[in-house]
Amino acid sequence: DLRNTQDPRRAYELDRAHVFHSWSAQAALDPMVITKAEGPYIWDGQGQRLLDFTSQLVYTNLGHQHPRIVAAIQEQAATLCTVAPAYANGARSEAAHLIAAHTPGDLNHVFFTNGGADANEHAIRMARLHTGRPKVLSTYRSYHGGTQLAVNVTGDPRRWPNDNGSTGTVHFFGPFLYRSAFNSSTPEEESQRALSHLEQVITLEGPSTIAAIILEAIPGTAGIMVPPPGYLTGVRELCDRFGIMFIADEVMSGFGRAGKWFAVSDEVVPDLLTFAKGVNSGYVPLGGVALSDAIYATFAERAYPGGLTYSGHALACAAAVATIRTMEDEDTVANAQRLGSAVIGPALQELASKHEWIGEVRGTGCFWALELVSDRETRSPLAPYGGSSPQMAALLKACRSEGLLPFANYNRIHIVPPLNTPDDVVREGLAMLDRALTATNS
Ligand code: PLP
Repeated sequence: DLRNTQDPRRAYELDRAHVFHSWSAQAALDPMVITKAEGPYIWDGQGQRLLDFTSQLVYTNLGHQHPRIVAAIQEQAATLCTVAPAYANGARSEAAHLIAAHTPGDLNHVFFTNGGADANEHAIRMARLHTGRPKVLSTYRSYHGGTQLAVNVTGDPRRWPNDNGSTGTVHFFGPFLYRSAFNSSTPEEESQRALSHLEQVITLEGPSTIAAIILEAIPGTAGIMVPPPGYLTGVRELCDRFGIMFIADEVMSGFGRAGKWFAVSDEVVPDLLTFAKGVNSGYVPLGGVALSDAIYATFAERAYPGGLTYSGHALACAAAVATIRTMEDEDTVANAQRLGSAVIGPALQELASKHEWIGEVRGTGCFWALELVSDRETRSPLAPYGGSSPQMAALLKACRSEGLLPFANYNRIHIVPPLNTPDDVVREGLAMLDRALTATNS
């Protein structure tokens, strides 16, 4: 049945004839065809091999075609492809058990969704029902998903065309020292000032109206701004003081990406934690919400008013079981941490000492951003917020001809390879980036 799907020209032509793509004006699109993939590599329609430093949309945490995940999906498909949510099923039960074993604190129950946006929608619904309050606070420079409420809490330009109704969403500034909204000059100052600002927003919005604060534990697409010391603890304290639920969006930062199972883990236990992407390396769509015992108790006797056909789909959950067990067996999380501190971080700092365009290097684990600027003094971004520039386009083209696929967003390049990429392959990719920067900014 699938024989025609191997022809890259046909794939391209049918795409242009019939496929409607995300977040894009359709007419000018020229999508790259991907014909095969293995580990950290993909192959384009012309047969060129590219090193996938994007992990696609930052989700193939164990790389492409990992044999254990593929085998688990095949085994599950041969046994039982799908069961409706009301039934119990081994793949779903085991996935929930393994996820709960790694989430912090008492996040002991898991509600499965199809992806990250609907996980956030449900987490907010749970927080609203649990507290009886309407509003949700979120940061500028964030992404929480493309469905209506998730895109309204999002703090990036994808929200603007969708801001067409009152949804009880309020935005505030999170910490971001390089472009501080508070004129801070140290991480400690930024942390403390961002917390006072949040406290003011809570006070002026009315604490009794606020159900939840939703935060990416480390903002991802918005720029990988690792929070300064004390910030997440401070948010937890504000939430406790005002009876507000803390929702940690770990859709991108979770499952080892940041060198920990979850980026919040050491500091705080959120009331709700949302995940997707790395939970099963994205092989089959899956997301979910892990909820605290207190929120679980709210729905122990009272029905939770929400659900979806594919909640805990067997193929997706089988992929999650294999992913999590592989990560445990191969010590993937520690490897991600080591790659960040011993390989990626130092190499990026070295690039920054050579290339004037690099205004800041920041990140942890396999989760890094280069903030590119046209002028280091003024920190003027190499592309405007929400847009692109000829320099960014040229840099991406140069990376591609070197054989590297980097993740780009406005004036930033993100280095987000699979967590099990061999050290020499990571170094090779960073050398390609070095040459592409030299070629573009000579
Ligand atoms: N939350 C975060 C932090 C994300 O990075 C994303 C996707 O990039 C989402 C939510 C939305 O996830 P999905 O695209 O699976 O709906």
